Amino acid sequence: MTGMTRREAMAGTLGGAAALFALGSNAMGGSSLSGEALGWDPDRQKYTLPPLPYPADALEPFIDAETMRIHHDLHHNGYVKGLNKALEMLHAIRWEKGDPGTLQHWQRQLAFHGGGHLNHSLFWRNMAPPDQGGGGRPESPLYDILGRDFGSYDKFVWQFKQAANKVEGSGWAWLVREQTTGMLMVLQQENQQKGLFAGCVPLLGVDVWEHAYYLKYQNKRTDYVDAFMNVINWPEVSRRYLEASRG
Ligand code: MN
Repeated sequence: MTGMTRREAMAGTLGGAAALFALGSNAMGGSSLSGEALGWDPDRQKYTLPPLPYPADALEPFIDAETMRIHHDLHHNGYVKGLNKALEMLHAIRWEKGDPGTLQHWQRQLAFHGGGHLNHSLFWRNMAPPDQGGGGRPESPLYDILGRDFGSYDKFVWQFKQAANKVEGSGWAWLVREQTTGMLMVLQQENQQKGLFAGCVPLLGVDVWEHAYYLKYQNKRTDYVDAFMNVINWPEVSRRYLEASRG
């Protein structure tokens, strides 16, 4: 914090909060992940990459260890770095040390890399090894709500897989809770920041960028999405649902 006034330091903190608001408006309406879960370091005013919540090979054979390592250590880390860079540049512009003409560029970088950091932080948590809660079916009340909003649990599964399989190019499929109506919806997201609207809390997401599956599944995305269903951490998704329901 050397060389930074108290006012600047506070603005930096607000910068972190503002980043999450930006994620909200560009990606979705609140992640319900804490700053700590997102690796926000208030002293250094930077995000750090949180470790995977389980060993890289824990999701074998559904998701292979090498894919997990590259995905987390390289891809996710790249988004954390990009997010920090965008925050730094926006901070400089705010304090008249940067070029205001680049504001739109860095705002887009913030949305893209911030979306990437948020999405992956959720993604690692919404998977679990099969012997630690991964796979199977959700319990009530989530099971019943899925039935209410999709017709049945199996129809939800069908729609979720369809959404994931039919993302054009790179993107994600999400189960979200729309907070005004309380309805659960399945939505596609382009890249990692476009397509969802503010007011939706993400409950469960699947990354269908090729980097998420190509080493093991090559072009067979549907096989990857089928395999993903075996490692969904339903207790965590249920917990997120209950948290979102409480507002
Ligand atoms: Mn990814």
